[in-house]
Amino acid sequence: MDITGPHVKKYLKKFIVEPEKKLKLKDYDPGWAQNETLKQMSEDAAQDLLQQMLEKDRAQLNEAQALLAASGQYSILIVLQGMDTAGKDGTIRHVMSGVNPQGCAVHGFKVPSSEEHAHDFLWRYYHVLPERGMIGIFNRSYYEDVLVVRVHPERMEQLPEKLGPESGGFWKARYQDINAFERHLVQNGTIILKFFLHISKDEQKKRLLARLEDKDKYWKFSTADLAERQYWDKYVIAYEEMLAATSTEYAPWFIVPADYKWVARTVVAEAITSAISGLDLSYPKVSDEQVKILMDAKRQLEAE
Ligand code: ADP
Repeated sequence: MDITGPHVKKYLKKFIVEPEKKLKLKDYDPGWAQNETLKQMSEDAAQDLLQQMLEKDRAQLNEAQALLAASGQYSILIVLQGMDTAGKDGTIRHVMSGVNPQGCAVHGFKVPSSEEHAHDFLWRYYHVLPERGMIGIFNRSYYEDVLVVRVHPERMEQLPEKLGPESGGFWKARYQDINAFERHLVQNGTIILKFFLHISKDEQKKRLLARLEDKDKYWKFSTADLAERQYWDKYVIAYEEMLAATSTEYAPWFIVPADYKWVARTVVAEAITSAISGLDLSYPKVSDEQVKILMDAKRQLEAE
């Protein structure tokens, strides 16, 4: 993706991680609001405005996806990562609500099966990549293999001792593998957009508590989420290193402020439509010869 072009909205650029530049997540405000005025509005007025934005995002995504499908040259891979409760599912629902379901596929990734662990770490992701014309959304991804596995090395697959995490430069090598993998995909026509939904620890607490305060949300609560929360600081370090090492010009990371769900959803939707509009796609051209055939067909049908 060309992340410097005029098609990328100015406000989005500040969320793009500069390649190789060390970063601290505390320098990114998870509560950043695109529209400060919204916070000062009455509840009703704010809801109206949000509804309008949602409709606008939907219409733009729909149009962008139709073009992507019609031209059939590129595919789009959207990677979503974030701490538990960061809002990955809701963001996907928002993005999906705008597009033709036939042009979009979502894949979630859980703890790898023994078959998956018997292969290299990229294997399970490879065969569910989006085909040309399609948008593929990864709800978690191969980045888990440098995040959860880094925080919990005991969850790693069995590697030859010489090649395992005890060997020097292991994580760096994994980042390089990921960069090479993404570069290969980009060179073959995949546009890759990666979103880290950045929430604060306080906001996570609120969201976890909300799941315990509403009977209809009980099912969403997992004690595993509470256990992972104890590792918050370790996750922060793993994320910081990973984001700096794997944000590239061809497959950038966006650090999306996610304490306000509407902000996160708008940023992700607008980054996607920006990327597709930057491709300068057009509907397939119809030659004079083809127009003649179509008009003949029309006459035939009308004469029936
Ligand atoms: P989600 O939280 O995405 O809605 P789950 O609650 O089922 O779905 O969580 C999926 C779990 O799978 C997470 O705890 C995640 O860390 C774990 N997971 C995903 N990919 C890997 C991986 N490559 N290695 C180890 N664990 C993984």
